[in-house]
Amino acid sequence: MKFRKDTDLNPASSTRAAPADACGTAPHRAAEPELTPERPLAFEVLATHGAARVGALRTPHGTVTTPAFVGVGTQATVKTLTPDVVAATGTQLLFANTYHLYLRPGAELVARHGGLHRFMRWDRPILTDSGGFQVFSLGASIEHGVGKVASIFPGEAPAAPRRPGGSGMVRVREEGVEFRSHIDGSRHFFTPERSIEVQRQLGADIVLAFDECTSPLHDEAYTRASLERTHRWAQRSLDAFLAGRALHGYPQALYGIVQGGAYRDQREESARVIGGMPFHGLAVGGNLGSTHQEMYDILDWTVPLLPPEKPRHLLGIGDVPGVFEAVARGIDTFDCVAPTRNARTATIMVRRGDDGRPARRFRLNVRGAAYADDLRPLEEGCDCYTCRNFTRAYLRHLFKAGEQLGPQLATIHNLRFMARLMDDIRAALLDGTFEEFKAATLAGAELG
Ligand SMILES: [Zn+2]
Repeated sequence: MKFRKDTDLNPASSTRAAPADACGTAPHRAAEPELTPERPLAFEVLATHGAARVGALRTPHGTVTTPAFVGVGTQATVKTLTPDVVAATGTQLLFANTYHLYLRPGAELVARHGGLHRFMRWDRPILTDSGGFQVFSLGASIEHGVGKVASIFPGEAPAAPRRPGGSGMVRVREEGVEFRSHIDGSRHFFTPERSIEVQRQLGADIVLAFDECTSPLHDEAYTRASLERTHRWAQRSLDAFLAGRALHGYPQALYGIVQGGAYRDQREESARVIGGMPFHGLAVGGNLGSTHQEMYDILDWTVPLLPPEKPRHLLGIGDVPGVFEAVARGIDTFDCVAPTRNARTATIMVRRGDDGRPARRFRLNVRGAAYADDLRPLEEGCDCYTCRNFTRAYLRHLFKAGEQLGPQLATIHNLRFMARLMDDIRAALLDGTFEEFKAATLAGAELG
């Protein structure tokens, strides 16, 4: 497999790899063994800094330099952008949603295209979730009339509590979960085996074990029962994965998911159980607490218990402080819909406000009257297509006029913002200046 140019976005990957090779071996990745069903990905830690690490995550569709942000393409598309434009932002890998693609257009149709990469014309790595999160969050939000997709993101409104056993939209049983489509109300039954089967059809490089996702409003007893069921589902996911085979001519890797809500003993137990199973990588997911600090606590409890040689993904986090703290605790990849979703409502990610201080929540809303005559780019110093060519006043005009180019240009910038942030974080880790960079970036910032 050729070494892809896109993985060299970080100068670190080409010029700073020396520490990992200090023992005198040849430059890494010179003679890599082929990826196989038994070894569907290769993760190499190139350098560490405290618990944080810089790594190379090799998949059948290219190598990701970590820590890396995973762009979200829920419906097999990053909304508003062509794949070429997404790639030009420096986004290394994408996350697609099994639940949505299973319901529409159906995994069989994707399989007939040869899998997601060919269906959506993205030839870089793809990760799919198991469908569990949407089954529970969409189901619960509809069932309880919440009116929006429930969120596990700290600080956002939690899902309404689900009645044990459930009724209506979502019914949890030992075998699996019965749910109704949020599109047409049709009934479906998802099991760990079915989730793996669907993810085989979709053909992502990395797939996730089926889990139950609890909300912050679930009590300790419910979370405990759910955790134990999730562990049984993890084994069933693994069994189904190992019994099956990839369908599209390249191997797939399976990650297990650490659950346990905001309860320390449950999180630690889950990290030991899931970390002890032969998954190719691990994800930390589910209810990550109600505040940033609770999420950091959960990472402090779980990450040190995970096998260090395996890649670690954090589900659903992508705000600037969260990224720094997760990286500091040893997370390698994380996905979050916020940078792209916020872009479509004119919310632009910036590190600094116009006064030179960290911007409030690292955002500005370019619809604001203050930008009506602002001839500067969205963010000074940004090298994205939008910032190289357009002014804030033009972006404001597009959004005020309801033009489709507004969300498109804003999405380009926000994805590039995340890619540049990760480039700088990797460089700082390799330079040994991560603490200083983190402190300088976050100083005075309000948490989101
Ligand atoms: Zn930009």
